[in-house]
This record gives sequence, C-alpha cells and structure tokens, in this order.
Amino acid sequence: MLVLGIESSCDECSVAVVEDGKRILSNVIATQIDLHKPFNGVVPEIASRLHTEWIYPVVEESLAEAGVSVDQIDGIAVTNRPGLVGSLLVGLSFAKGLAWSLNIPFVGVDHIRAHLYAPHLEYEIEYPYIGLLVSGGHTIISKVSGFDDVEVLGTTIDDACGEAFDKVAKFYNFGYPGGVIIDKMSEKGDPKAFSFPKPNLHKGDHTYDVSYSGLKTAVINQLDQFHNEGYEKSPENIAASFQKTAIDILIKRLKKAVKNTGLTRVVAGGGVTANSYFRKAISSIYGIEAYYPSLKLCTDNGAMIAAIGYHYLKKGDVSDLTVNAMARVASFKRKYP
Ligand code: ATP
Ligand code: MG
Ligand code: FE
Repeated sequence: MLVLGIESSCDECSVAVVEDGKRILSNVIATQIDLHKPFNGVVPEIASRLHTEWIYPVVEESLAEAGVSVDQIDGIAVTNRPGLVGSLLVGLSFAKGLAWSLNIPFVGVDHIRAHLYAPHLEYEIEYPYIGLLVSGGHTIISKVSGFDDVEVLGTTIDDACGEAFDKVAKFYNFGYPGGVIIDKMSEKGDPKAFSFPKPNLHKGDHTYDVSYSGLKTAVINQLDQFHNEGYEKSPENIAASFQKTAIDILIKRLKKAVKNTGLTRVVAGGGVTANSYFRKAISSIYGIEAYYPSLKLCTDNGAMIAAIGYHYLKKGDVSDLTVNAMARVASFKRKYP
C-alpha cells in the first residue's frame, strides 16, 4: 500500500511516499527555518502562508522523487493535531481535497504518536516498550503497547525539553534554531563548568514527571552570577552545562521507568533525540535496548506521518471530510488520547 504522508503542523512543509508503513520512497522536507530566523522563533502567520505556497510543489516533488504518479497512491495520512491551527489547516485541507478528487481514503493523525512511531521506519521493534517523546512542544514518558496504544507515565509539568533549548538560546542570542546551535556550541564547552539544578519531583503522582522551567530560569540567571569558581563564564560552557543537565533529567526518569516496569526496550523520538549528548547518554544506559531515529526522522517529517497512517488505513480507521485541525490534544494523564 502506497501512502502519501503530509506534515504541516509547524514550520516544516513535508510530504513523503511510504510503502506499507516501512519503505520510504521519498521524504521531502521544506523547512521554513531561514524565513523565521529574523524573528528568533516561528511566526504562525508567516508559517501558514508559506505552507499555502509550498504544499503543492512539495507534493509534486515528493511524488517525482518516489517515481510514482498520483493515481498510484492508495491513501493519504495527514497531521491534524497538535500544532499551529493555521499551519495544520493547510495540510489537512490539501489532503481532504486530494483524497476526495482521487476517491481514496485519508486519515488525520496525531503528530506526537507519529514522532514516537518514527523509529519503526528503520528498525524492527517489538511491543511493549518505554516510549520517550521529546520535542519542541512535548515531553512524554510512556508505556507503548501498540502503534495506537500509548499509556502516559509522566510528562513535563511546565516547559517542554526542546522549548527550554530554544528559550535559553533565544535569551543568550545564541541564534536560531536553538537546539541545534546549543548542541554545536556544547562541543567546545565544559559540561561541568556550571552546576544547574535538577527538579526534585519524587512524590505522589510525579514519579515520572519532569520540569524544565526551573532549569531554564537558573541558566538565564547565570548571566549575572555563577557558582563554580575557576571556570570561565563562556557561552560554550553555559551551553554544554545546560545541555548536560537537560538531558540528564530525561535519562534519570527513563532509568526509573525501566527499573519499575521491567521493560528494557526504550524507543525515543522527537527533535531533541537529534541531540548528540542525548544519543550518547541513552545508548550507554546499562542493560537496555535503545532505539532512536536517524537525524532526518527526529524532527518533523512526512515519512513518520505516512508510516503510522498506514496502520490506521489498513484497519479501515479512516477520517471523513468533517475532521478538523486541533491545536492541542485533550489534556491527558495516563491514556494518550
Ligand atoms: P512538537 O513535535 O512537540 O509539536 P515540534 O514539532 O516543534 O514540536 P520537533 O520538530 O520534534 O518539535 O523538534 C523541534 C525541537 O527539537 C526544537 O525545540 C529544537 O530546539 C529541538 N532540537 C532539534 N535538534 C536538536 C538538537 N540537536 N539538540 C537539542 N534539541 C534539538
Ligand atoms: Mg520545526
Ligand atoms: Fe514535531
């Protein structure tokens, strides 16, 4: 089954053709990064307008690269939640129109589930496992028992991990996009130069929760003061120390989830899994099998949408033309909606 995957939830306009949820025939990612750079962040109005201009040529390019004609497509998967509504609507409307005109099924899929599913494109992974979704807007530790069966164990109680990278970079004027730049700067910094606080969320329901606002504030306040004497207060040292703390917070929670559930497979997805320190840290957790996507599949892409969409389409779980875009998914704890 050939599925066209369309992703337009934020600032990436991406379209992929994936066969049977597994074989990527094309995965074109047109990023708007350079056009949002002057504003140090994504401007929703600009994002949706660019999607409107780009979606058609990106679909054409994706089909051409895959070497298939549009009537060979069996179904369409499109991100319809969560994200910027104006941006989501462009991909969703395009998908509806194309599916209707070709008389093929389409399905609106959840972007967060798709991020978590991305490693399945590259590896054979058995369920159940501990799933870690760590992106620009979400941080979720879960128990995953199927492509659509995600039990939330913990989330961030404030900022998302990627958001903390972006905000720290913005505050210090490190550049945009923040996560990639902090990763790069950290190569030349000493991760032990600053000792930044880790959240202390142990009690009650918070066993697997994380928090990033305290760390973010502490890092920002280093502009005026710093603890460890003898270390140079360089931007690289700040970047490296922040990065290490931000990732160590995740790793600590992961280890706890592995220990308490007895599940030794850990599957991670989302933009922050592109981080080089994260990749080293997760790979070195003793006694687990760790999976994370190759770099191109960490951040937003159409292939992950097509891949998870295939499974819905295969079981006849399709959308109709009344399906809408949603900025957020219903607030959840435990069962991911
Ligand atoms: P969501 O998926 O939650 O809707 P999003 O789509 O904006 O949000 P992603 O596309 O998964 O998020 O990833 C973007 C995030 O990943 C940004 O916050 C970015 O800073 C972060 N990121 C990307 N590369 C790296 C890196 N090498 N190190 C750390 N963070 C990174
Ligand atoms: Mg993006
Ligand atoms: Fe994303």
